[in-house]
Amino acid sequence: MTEKDVLKIFKSEKALLTGHFLLSSGLHSSNYMQCALVLQKPWVAEKLCKALAKKVKGKVDVVIGPSLGGVIVSYEMGRALKVRSIFAERVDGMMSLRRGFSIGKNEKALVVEDVVTTGKSSREVSELVKQQGAKLVGVACIVDRNEGNSGFDVPLYSLLKMDIKTYEPALCPICREGKIPAIKPGSRL
Ligand SMILES: [Zn+2]
Repeated sequence: MTEKDVLKIFKSEKALLTGHFLLSSGLHSSNYMQCALVLQKPWVAEKLCKALAKKVKGKVDVVIGPSLGGVIVSYEMGRALKVRSIFAERVDGMMSLRRGFSIGKNEKALVVEDVVTTGKSSREVSELVKQQGAKLVGVACIVDRNEGNSGFDVPLYSLLKMDIKTYEPALCPICREGKIPAIKPGSRL
């Protein structure tokens, strides 16, 4: 599956949005990839994750994603790699393992997410993996919005690299135009 194929899927599922978006990082943007719209079709999610799993090098014992964005990707990656799939949740702001999930010492863990923007969630889950004494073998995502510049110290695998411009609110040209209010894409869209 080429980047073109992936982009085609996002376009046909109307998951590549244009407008004025307030990202969870606090930055503004004129584009947003709403991965949930692509992943709502399990057969599409399966196909994408199968292609992503093929890129991952080396042995993986368990995949783990941050909830909510990483849950479906984690599940489908687990299916593709035929390994356990778990997810991490925030408890009092800290990424944690709940529901009896655990990662064994020396297990090889792959952190997965739908879209890596700042990489904050993936980095926090990576720290959690290390705290368990497991070995972090990489991070995998459907869309890498940083074009490989997220600064992970392990390989970052992705199906599509997108350079989507983000702006500090004070410097946002769409704000300056003042025509459309910024909306949080996670909630209303
Ligand atoms: Zn703005």
